[in-house]
Amino acid sequence: MRCPFCGNVDTQVKDSRPAEDHVAIRRRRFCPACGGRFTTYERVQLRDLVVIKSSGKREDFDRDKLERSIRIAMQKRPIEPERVDQMISGIVRRLESLGDTDIPSRSIGEIVMETLARIDTVSYVRFASVYKNFQAADDFDKFVSELRPPVQGQDE
Ligand SMILES: [Zn+2]
Repeated sequence: MRCPFCGNVDTQVKDSRPAEDHVAIRRRRFCPACGGRFTTYERVQLRDLVVIKSSGKREDFDRDKLERSIRIAMQKRPIEPERVDQMISGIVRRLESLGDTDIPSRSIGEIVMETLARIDTVSYVRFASVYKNFQAADDFDKFVSELRPPVQGQDE
């Protein structure tokens, strides 16, 4: 696994343990070249999913992108990180079980909103308010940049 800090490909696993109730293996890694430490997760990937944007463009489904948007929406909310991981895995399992490996980006947004609505209203509102504009733009990077972390103290 390549070091995200310096690009060295020869990194070492320092610790491996089950995570998310044995759905994932969490590995702590160390880069001997720069001393950097980072974590990777190993998960079962049942199917290779493809996202169909409203423009018709196809893109490989990227769990990290999904995770980034959800984590930003949930930032500073009193929810255990482990719970967030489980939620994201649950969303991916649902996508994988839709019956079709081609998934409209709209369906992904709807499943995320449905899930967030059950777990945390504030995160749901944050996500949904940006998602409305996103449907028109259909540009994930723009979506993430609009979904900025809340200003400190704003929601307390
Ligand atoms: Zn490194």
